[in-house]
Amino acid sequence: MLEFLSKYNFLQNENLSYHCTMRVGGNAKFYIEPSSNDQLIDVVKNCEKTKLNYFVLGNGSNVIFRDKGFDGVIICTKKINEIKIKDNIIIADGGSNLFVLNKIAQQNGLGGMEWSYGIPGSVGGAVCMNAGAYGGQMQDIVLKAKIFDGKKIKVLYNNELKMSYRDSIIKQNKYIVLKVWIKLKKEDKEIIKEKQINYLNKRRLSQPLEMYNSGSIFKKVKDISAGKIIDNLGLKGVIFNGAQISKLHANFIVNLGNAKAKDIQNLIKIIKDKVKEKTNIVLEEEVLFIGDE
Ligand SMILES: Cc1cc2nc3c(=O)[nH]c(=O)nc-3n(C[C@H](O)[C@H](O)[C@H](O)COP(=O)(O)OP(=O)(O)OC[C@H]3O[C@@H](n4cnc5c(N)ncnc54)[C@H](O)[C@@H]3O)c2cc1C
Repeated sequence: MLEFLSKYNFLQNENLSYHCTMRVGGNAKFYIEPSSNDQLIDVVKNCEKTKLNYFVLGNGSNVIFRDKGFDGVIICTKKINEIKIKDNIIIADGGSNLFVLNKIAQQNGLGGMEWSYGIPGSVGGAVCMNAGAYGGQMQDIVLKAKIFDGKKIKVLYNNELKMSYRDSIIKQNKYIVLKVWIKLKKEDKEIIKEKQINYLNKRRLSQPLEMYNSGSIFKKVKDISAGKIIDNLGLKGVIFNGAQISKLHANFIVNLGNAKAKDIQNLIKIIKDKVKEKTNIVLEEEVLFIGDE
C-alpha cells in the first residue's frame, strides 16, 4: 500500500514536537519533506488513492500536535521554497519562509509586507490562515495563488481565495497552496528596512519570542483582543504542569520546557471557562490542534 513512499526519503515514527513551534506532540507514522511541488502533488494523490490520512504542514507555527501523534503522513513544505521576482510581484513557492520573503522584498525595494516581518511561518500557511499583524494582512497583498485541490491544479485570484479574519477557502477546503503571487510597490530600501525593524522590535517587546509558543492562542472577539480580555481577569502567569499563560502577553501560552499538548489544552480550557464565567464571552481558538484524539 505504501510503495509510493519508498520513492521518497520519508521518516517513520517521527517525533512531531520537532515540527511545531510549541515543541509538543507525539509521533507521526510517516513524515516527508517533498522537494518540489510535483513531488508534493504525487504524495497527496497517492495518499488520496490509498486512503491514507495526511496533513500539509508549513513551519508549524500555528499548529499544536496532540500527544497521541498522527496516524498518517505529515507532508512538510519547507523544502519547496523557490522565490522569483517579476516587476513588483514576488512569486513564491508555498513553503517559502516569510522572513526570507521579507529580506528579498527589502533588497529589491518592494514595500507593503513589512507588517509580516517576524511572523515565523511559510507563505502557504500565511495564505491559509490569512495571517495579519499591525493593520496588514495577506488578503491585501496576494494577487493570486496556484493551488492543488486533491485532484486538480487551479489558479485562484484574490477574491476567489475568500480570505477573511484568519480564514480562507484554503483552510475551509484543505486545498494546498503551491505558489503565491504577492503584489508589492516600489519603495526606498532603507525605509522598508526601518519599518521591518520597527515591527520586529514591537514584537520583541510584547511577545515571549525566546520561549516555545504558537503565537496567538485565541482569535479577537469582534475588535477586542483576546489578550486584553484574559489579562483583565488577571490570568497572566497561570501554570498548568509545563504550560504557562505568558507573563508578557496573555494571549500566548508558552511551553516551559516539558509541556505536553494536554497541558496546553487544559490551560486553554481554564482560560475559556474563566472568560465565559466572568464576561459571558466564548473565546475561539486561532491555533489548530492536529493529531489523533
Ligand atoms: C511567535 C509567533 C508569532 C506569530 N505572529 C503572528 C501574527 O502576527 N499574525 C498571524 O496571523 N499569525 C501569527 N503567528 C501564527 C503563524 O505564524 C501564522 O499563522 C503563519 O502564517 C502560519 O504559517 P505556518 O507555515 O507555520 O503554518 P502551519 O502552522 O504549518 O499550518 C497552519 C495551517 O496552514 C496550513 N498550511 C500550511 N502550509 C500550507 C500550504 N502550502 N497549503 C495549504 N495549507 C497550508 C496547514 O495545513 C494548517 O492548516 C505567530 C506565531 C508565532 C509562533
